[in-house]
Amino acid sequence: VSTARVADTWVKTTCGYCSVGCGMLVGVKDGKAVAARGNPDHPVNRGKLCPKGLSEHHILDGPGRAKLPLLRKNGKLEPVSWDEALSTMVERIANIQGRHGLGSLGVVGTGQLLTEEYYTLGKLVQLGFRTPNNDGNTTLCMASAVSGYKLSFGSDGPPGSYADMSTADVVLLIGSNIADNHPILCTRVGEGPDKRPGRTLIVVDPRVTKTAMMADIHLAIKPRGDIALINGIAHILIRDGLTDSNYIAAHTINYDAFAAYVAAFTPQHVSEITGLSVEKITKVAHLYGRARAGFIGWTMGVNHSTQGAVTVAAINNLALITGHIGRAGAAPFSITGQCNAMGTRESGFTSALPGYRKFDNPEHREELAQIWGIDAEEIPKARGMAYPDIIEGAVTGKIKALWFIATNPVVSFPNYELLKQALESVEFVVVQDGFHPTPTSDFAHLVLPAAIWGEKEGTYTNSERRISKVNCIVTPPGEARSDFDIFLALAERLGVRDRLYPGWQTTADAYAEWQRVSAGRLCDYSPYSWKEIEDAGGIQWGGERLYADGAFPTADGRAILHNVPCDPFLEQPNEEYDFILNTGRTVEHWHTRTKTAQVDMLNKMVPNAWLEMNPVDAKRLQLRAHDKVTVTSRRSNVSGLELRITSIIAPGQVFMPFHFAETNSNRVTLGAFDPISREPNFKQCAVRVQKSSSQ
Ligand code: SF4
Repeated sequence: VSTARVADTWVKTTCGYCSVGCGMLVGVKDGKAVAARGNPDHPVNRGKLCPKGLSEHHILDGPGRAKLPLLRKNGKLEPVSWDEALSTMVERIANIQGRHGLGSLGVVGTGQLLTEEYYTLGKLVQLGFRTPNNDGNTTLCMASAVSGYKLSFGSDGPPGSYADMSTADVVLLIGSNIADNHPILCTRVGEGPDKRPGRTLIVVDPRVTKTAMMADIHLAIKPRGDIALINGIAHILIRDGLTDSNYIAAHTINYDAFAAYVAAFTPQHVSEITGLSVEKITKVAHLYGRARAGFIGWTMGVNHSTQGAVTVAAINNLALITGHIGRAGAAPFSITGQCNAMGTRESGFTSALPGYRKFDNPEHREELAQIWGIDAEEIPKARGMAYPDIIEGAVTGKIKALWFIATNPVVSFPNYELLKQALESVEFVVVQDGFHPTPTSDFAHLVLPAAIWGEKEGTYTNSERRISKVNCIVTPPGEARSDFDIFLALAERLGVRDRLYPGWQTTADAYAEWQRVSAGRLCDYSPYSWKEIEDAGGIQWGGERLYADGAFPTADGRAILHNVPCDPFLEQPNEEYDFILNTGRTVEHWHTRTKTAQVDMLNKMVPNAWLEMNPVDAKRLQLRAHDKVTVTSRRSNVSGLELRITSIIAPGQVFMPFHFAETNSNRVTLGAFDPISREPNFKQCAVRVQKSSSQ
């Protein structure tokens, strides 16, 4: 197809959906984005794009764009000027903080923002509004990976690269359906030119996902059997002499205690917990242990758990005892979710201070204070509330004002009833988003219309730490303004603009300061200008892989092996709620569909949610394919789901995608969180299924 006639110009940029970070070219004609194609020169995707990337330009002029600031007056959201909107926001928040304390404001940002914007936001919230309670929606997706890396290696930062997936002998994916969720990354392990002869792909997932269908070995594990399996693999590696004793001695601590701990995870015991055969468990352990280079990737199947952080530490244990880390093809690698989940976790003021600095480290606070020209006492000494704690705080009365930026918790947060209570309990809700109405903006007192991907300039950092340039393609619709402009305008009204952002006009100024702040840190952006990043098709901070020299950022430079207990998940099925519900995604949609619902092609491909059920269960319940069913948990129910009867789901389990507001899976999910990472347990809750009564 000739693309030359479609557009007048093609703008180079980076996809704004998932963390794969594909390079793309967006065609512009008469000031409108009219086409998108993969950038053939980009090292991540080499010209390929998935359906979301190919249609991304359609979201820019979608019917659901927010175009005007709206303020609730007499119960109705009414258009107001930016001046009135911003003044009202600052006045209402000051009034609330005056009565209830500075910490009564809770802010939830997003991995959709540019790194430059997220950095600017962190300063505004913690040093301008002076509340420590700042977190990102990234706590709903990869906080467990962050915490797990810190537990094992002393710092966050995925040690490997996408290239390692291509060069490994054995790729072990745990709870990671990359065929749906990271489709272009999937090509690294798929068939075709990227499939290296002799490579073995092993997929651990309770469901026969599209990724599991590609696997050489699929371990259809019982839900939450992952820790037992990982400990069991460690047991076999040690028993059969497949560990790297030199690496263990030189670069780890706690080995003896760890070896004694996993001695109890015999293959027979693990088989009983996981439902996998002793032979399969042993085969996988031997393949990984004997590999020249073993790669372990994971995503939400691991992270979305009350034991997410320690499960990540257990995965890291495997890499450490075999020395499958810091070499080509060898890495324990968390695949992140959103386009800029990495950039925001490096630059944010959430679970860490910018540049992976620690709140409780006086030297770290002093370093930042010097750069910012402020007193170190202004910087919080401990992290504020995490996202779930902000929501709970709203219910209990500690939080009185909520500010959500480019996120839609009414659909994405677990246990909708509690979330709704939180939104209805506070005095003031601000929703800043590129789209309106959304299920969350329906609760807002103030809606701030924001520019989105394609309408602003800066950087995203992808799963492999690749900093990529994001460019402005068109102007935002109506009166929408970039998040960066909104933050500076609020700083102006708070009277802190000159002090916190001296001379700043554009995101380039934020990037320049972020370079100084990150200089010398593990995530060091200082050597790379925007131009160099753009010309190179992205640059990985830290190079292709971290810890190649075996030196870890811990107290004594050695990584820590952890004894990880394997606890049963909280809500086991019983007679009344006899299924385990698993929730997930599909390739055609993104998160809560604020973006993908704007695209006709994607809506036509997948217009509705569904429920997957095994034929054995369908027969027992006398249900037929395409029946409309209701899923009920102890919290609430979801009706009108179309039934898919399929053996890709095991008996006793059901699956539904979470994208759809009309059939919101989070009406039934469990509001339980990892005690370390605060990530929700989206993957297992007990439900019952029956035919919807309206049929
Ligand atoms: Fe965009 Fe991810 Fe698809 Fe690449 S794989 S085109 S980054 S959504």
